[in-house]
Amino acid sequence: MNASGLSPEQVKLQSRVRELAAGPVAARAAEVDRTEQYPWDNVDLLKDARLIGMTIPTQYGGQGGNWLDAVLAIEALSATCAVTGRIAVETNMGAISAVMAYGSEEQKKMAADMVLAGDKPAICITEPDAGSDANGMTTRADKKGNRYVINGRKHWITGGGVSRLHLIFAKVYDEKGNEEGIGGFLAIRDETKGLRITRREPTMGLRGIPEAVIDFEDMDVPPSSLVIPPRGLKKGFADLMTAYNSQRVGAATVALGIAEGAYRLALDWSEKRQQFGRPINEFQGLQWKLADMSIKLSAARALVYNAARSGEGGFPDMLMAAQAKIFTSESAIQVVNDALQFFGARGYSRELPLERMARDVRMFTIGGGTAEVLRNVVAGALLKKKLPQTRDGWIRD
Ligand SMILES: Cc1cc2nc3c(=O)[nH]c(=O)nc-3n(C[C@H](O)[C@H](O)[C@H](O)COP(=O)(O)OP(=O)(O)OC[C@H]3O[C@@H](n4cnc5c(N)ncnc54)[C@H](O)[C@@H]3O)c2cc1C
Repeated sequence: MNASGLSPEQVKLQSRVRELAAGPVAARAAEVDRTEQYPWDNVDLLKDARLIGMTIPTQYGGQGGNWLDAVLAIEALSATCAVTGRIAVETNMGAISAVMAYGSEEQKKMAADMVLAGDKPAICITEPDAGSDANGMTTRADKKGNRYVINGRKHWITGGGVSRLHLIFAKVYDEKGNEEGIGGFLAIRDETKGLRITRREPTMGLRGIPEAVIDFEDMDVPPSSLVIPPRGLKKGFADLMTAYNSQRVGAATVALGIAEGAYRLALDWSEKRQQFGRPINEFQGLQWKLADMSIKLSAARALVYNAARSGEGGFPDMLMAAQAKIFTSESAIQVVNDALQFFGARGYSRELPLERMARDVRMFTIGGGTAEVLRNVVAGALLKKKLPQTRDGWIRD
């Protein structure tokens, strides 16, 4: 174990991924942002480096690694290309981990095979009228004979248009029209009829992964496509959100990685850049900025690693995942903004990565639960109460 409590294997993994991130991943990052094209070649790199399916159990072809292994890889990748870091999140956490935890044998095999072949699954929760209040979703799955018929609209779905496997959250109704709870349905783009990618959102950052509106129009699926969480459909949303805690830790890790990348650039530049006859890091104003940036990064890293460790043998703890995501996403925005400042006018140029990092990092107080709503989660867990501004499902009971 070293100072951060990493095993020798984890230290090796970290340095291997850092090398990949500094080499071919960094070389493509600006182009991925400019062209807004999904980096399929980076998916191949991740596959070759065995950074996809790290958390998938070995009997399904994965590496049976823990959340922290995935976190170390995501952190290193995100320091040079946040889009590639996010691909590593979604091929190790989120939808795939929900299926691996709650799915039937057949569902697990299918999902693992698709992910290990390079598919980044899409998780479809958010709707135009149900964002933070996700439990208010109106996408519905009606039981008709031995089928479910799904209708509704999701938006801001990461990977919409490139992902094949979709985990779609919907309210489930029995044949008499009684609501049974929320379930997750598996569907495959271009195979499951009625799943339509309708529009790509024009995003501020993270432009190499499409965010899409997806419509479900009489999408007809068999009951075997329904992922039923352990406590059944009544507690389906709460259980699916428990699985989502892994994705939250992953999102926090991308923010952490971006901020670390920006900090390292600023540290280096602060020695190279001279003004008033000396390196700019000899001015105390900038020294204190560097000190504050490093403190935020160390604190964020500790929260993220601890949240990842809390999930050993299950999913990361809800409270720790929320705390990590709030602190890391907010601190990372500040660190990247400060790093950009070190470069003066150059920081504002599209020829350097700082402006891209500033756009990319801005997302993480929003996607995967906003910093405000996650504060409700933290408060609810501390007070052990359902808060009036939440609904069932956001707070595990
Ligand atoms: C890049 C990106 C990728 C995303 N990917 C996915 C994805 O793959 N799948 C998916 O399902 N969704 C995804 N989302 C959607 C994301 O999860 C939602 O945007 C988020 O949950 C917030 O919902 P909203 O945008 O509707 O904001 P709203 O819920 O409308 O919130 C608006 C504002 O009100 C605040 N607010 C709302 N309720 C409360 C409250 N009770 N207390 C205090 N403040 C409150 C919010 O914090 C926010 O500041 C993504 C979003 C982004 C930006």
